[in-house]
Amino acid sequence: LVEEKNEEQIETVPKRLPKGVVLGPDGKPCRSCTSVASWFAMAKKSPASTSSTTTTTATADVPTYPPDCPPDVEQLGRSSWTLLHSITASYPVSPSPQLQSETKTFIHTFSKLYPCWYCASDFQAWMKADGNAPRVSSRDEFGSWMCEAHNAVNVKLGKKEFDCGKWEERWRTGWKD
Ligand code: FAD
Repeated sequence: LVEEKNEEQIETVPKRLPKGVVLGPDGKPCRSCTSVASWFAMAKKSPASTSSTTTTTATADVPTYPPDCPPDVEQLGRSSWTLLHSITASYPVSPSPQLQSETKTFIHTFSKLYPCWYCASDFQAWMKADGNAPRVSSRDEFGSWMCEAHNAVNVKLGKKEFDCGKWEERWRTGWKD
């Protein structure tokens, strides 16, 4: 990524970025695109540019996420999925045509504003693929679609897929005993 930037932009970032640190469109390290582990690795190399983060680690070797700092890519993701799945859980069983239209607009706007640019770009591309356009005609449809969208990211990251037959237990009713 550094190689793709012009010289003026490169001057604004550390010379050697640790693996996992992603640059934003402004050519600077993008916090919401980078894991906290990579961010701290970079902070060790250039403490002046990230001094606020260096005071909040619990131990020197195992970075824990500071509760009062801007989110890294994982914290942002967990919070975002919590909001998105919770929205599907409170979505009407039979939404009006107007709400369905507004919901599609919301998802498309969300996918453009998502702060991790490459996450946003991949999410938009996934939605454009055959059969992946948002399904919002009922709570069950919307909840299942969101689960599939989340699973696409899980697969991309090498994580286990979630059983979408259980999305409602996870996000609305609670687990059956
Ligand atoms: P999360 O994946 O955040 O899941 C939170 C909880 O949701 C889980 O504990 C589980 O109980 C439940 N869950 C898991 N899967 C499903 C599912 N399919 N349906 C319903 N519930 C489920 N991170 C990247 O590193 N690269 C990316 O490209 C990327 N793209 C993203 C795109 C979007 C639109 C969003 C919202 C997030 C993206 N993320 C990305 C963040 C990533 O998905 C995770 O949120 C992050 O890695 C933290 O993962 P986690 O293991 O804590 O659990």
